Amino acid sequence: MDNKYDIVIIGAGLGGLECAYILGKKGHKVCVLEKNPKAGGTLQGFQRNGCGFSTGMHYIGSLDDGQVMNRLFRYFNILDNLKLKRMDDNGFDVFQIAGKEYRYPIGHQQFKEQMVQYFPDEEKAVETYIRDIKAATDEVDIYNLRYPVTYDIRNSQSLNTGAYQYIRSITKNVELQNVLAAQNFNYAGTKEASPFYAHALINNYYINSAYKLIGGSGQLVEHLVRNIEKTGGSVLTGKKAKRFVFKNNLLSGVETDAGESFFAGRFISNIHPSLTFGMMEESRLRKSYRNRILNLNNTISVFGLHIRLNKDRFPYLNYNYHYWYHNDVWYASNYDQEKWPEHFFLFSAAKTGNDQYSDCVTVLTYMKFEEVEKWKNLPPSERGQDYTGWKNEKAEKLLNLVGEQFPEIKYNVISYSVSTPLTLRDYIGTPDGGIYGTLRDYNNPMGTYIFPKTKIPNLFFTGQNVNLHGLLGVSMTAIVTCGEFMDMNELIKEINEA
Ligand SMILES: Cc1cc2nc3c(=O)[nH]c(=O)nc-3n(C[C@H](O)[C@H](O)[C@H](O)COP(=O)(O)OP(=O)(O)OC[C@H]3O[C@@H](n4cnc5c(N)ncnc54)[C@H](O)[C@@H]3O)c2cc1C
Repeated sequence: MDNKYDIVIIGAGLGGLECAYILGKKGHKVCVLEKNPKAGGTLQGFQRNGCGFSTGMHYIGSLDDGQVMNRLFRYFNILDNLKLKRMDDNGFDVFQIAGKEYRYPIGHQQFKEQMVQYFPDEEKAVETYIRDIKAATDEVDIYNLRYPVTYDIRNSQSLNTGAYQYIRSITKNVELQNVLAAQNFNYAGTKEASPFYAHALINNYYINSAYKLIGGSGQLVEHLVRNIEKTGGSVLTGKKAKRFVFKNNLLSGVETDAGESFFAGRFISNIHPSLTFGMMEESRLRKSYRNRILNLNNTISVFGLHIRLNKDRFPYLNYNYHYWYHNDVWYASNYDQEKWPEHFFLFSAAKTGNDQYSDCVTVLTYMKFEEVEKWKNLPPSERGQDYTGWKNEKAEKLLNLVGEQFPEIKYNVISYSVSTPLTLRDYIGTPDGGIYGTLRDYNNPMGTYIFPKTKIPNLFFTGQNVNLHGLLGVSMTAIVTCGEFMDMNELIKEINEA
C-alpha cells in the first residue's frame, strides 16, 4: 500500500501544517490531506485584480527577539525567510469609536503612558489592566513556551471570567472600557460570551509587538510546506477527506471523495470537529460527547471587500484601522441588520516594506450567517443574480461607510471582490462561515472547550477549534496536540533551543 503513513493529518490549515512539521522532524512519516487546490486554509493568500490579499491572518504579534512567535518561527525554520514589516510603534491598531480616535502603541509601558494620556484620572485602572493581562498570559506555561508544563486549563480563573465583565470591574469610565476592549474583532468578542482568557492573551500578544507579512500571509504557508517536505512529509492538495475507515475500534484509514484511501496508525483532524464526526458512523462515539461537540456554537462570520485602488492615491497605513459608529465596541458583533454596517476593520497591505501608498486594501465587518441562509444549499454557480445583486448592494453600503472616513478610497476604487459567510464556509469548511471556528463561552468554559484527545484512541484534534484561534492559539495547540505523540516538555525545550 503506497498510501501508508505513520500519521495522516486532515486539513492543511496552520495547525495541520505545524503538526506535520513537528512530527516529521521527529522522524514520523506524515501526510497532510487538503481539499483545496492550495494549502493554508485561512492562512493562505490569494491574488485578485493585481493585488495579493490575505484570506485571514493580517497581523502577527510577539515576534520581537525572544518573544514567543519569534522562538516558534525559529523552530519552524521560517523566521529568516519571512518578509515582515514592523507596524507603527506609536499605534499599530487605531480605533475610531463614536468619532474619537485612539491608538495602541507597542510595548506595555508605552501602552500605559498612552492610555493615561487619554484618561489622566484612570492611571490605577490602566495599571491594574496591564497587570492582569500579563498575569493571565503568564499563568499559562504553554503560551510562554515554559516547561515543565504544570498549568491545567481547568483551573484557570480567566477562563471563567467574561472579558466585558472584567473590564467593567476595573473602571466605571465607559470610554476607557471601550478602548480597552477595542481589539475585540480579533476574537469576535461578545459581551455575553467572550472569556477574559482570550481577551488577555490576544491583547498582550499584540502589545508585545506587531508585524505585517509583506505580500500577505501566503509566504508563511509556502515556507512551512517546503520545510515539511524537507522532513520527508507530504502535503497533498485536492484531496477532500470524506469517510473514516475503522478496523475494530481504531481508525485505520481515510477515504477521499475521489475514492482514494490513505492509511496510518494515527490521525489528526485540523478541520471543524462537527465535520470530523460527520466522517464516521454515529455509533462510534458516546452520544453525550458527540452531541456536546455537534451542538457547539460557532463564532460570527464576516463580509469582506478586497479592493484595488488607483495607484498612489491612498497612503499606506502602517496600522489597522477599526471603526465603530456607536459608543459601544461590543455592539458590532450583534448588529441590527437594518443599520448594517456600522463597524469595519481596514487593513492596508504591505507590498514592499517601504510603501508610501496602498493600492490594495481589505475591509471586513461582521455578518451573521442568517443573512445568506437562503443560498446556503446552492452551489456558487447556481446562486444567480439574486445573490450577486445582494452582494453588490452590501458591498456598496460598506464602501460608503469606509468612504466617509477615507474619501481617497471611495473615489479611487478600480475594482473589488467580495467575500461572504458562504465564501468562508465553502472555502475553509467552517460551518456557518465562523470567522474563528467554535465559540468559547466563559459561562460554560469546559462545555465549550475541545481537548486534542478524542474518544477515538488514535484520532486527535488540532487547529483553531481547540482552545484558541489565531497564529498564537493555533501554534500553541499544535504543540499540545503533538504532545500526545511525544514528550511535550522535550518539544518545548527543543523549540527554545532552536
Ligand atoms: C477574516 C479573518 C481574519 C483573521 N485575522 C487574523 C490575524 O490578523 N491574526 C491571526 O493570528 N489570526 C487571524 N485569523 C485567524 C487565523 O487565520 C485562524 O485562526 C487560523 O489560520 C486557523 O488555522 P487552522 O489550523 O484552524 O486551520 P483552517 O484555517 O481552519 O484550515 C482548515 C483547512 O482544512 C481544510 N479542509 C476542510 N475540510 C476538509 C476535508 N474534508 N478534507 C481535507 N481538507 C479539509 C480547509 O480547506 C482548510 O485548508 C483571521 C481569520 C479570519 C477568517
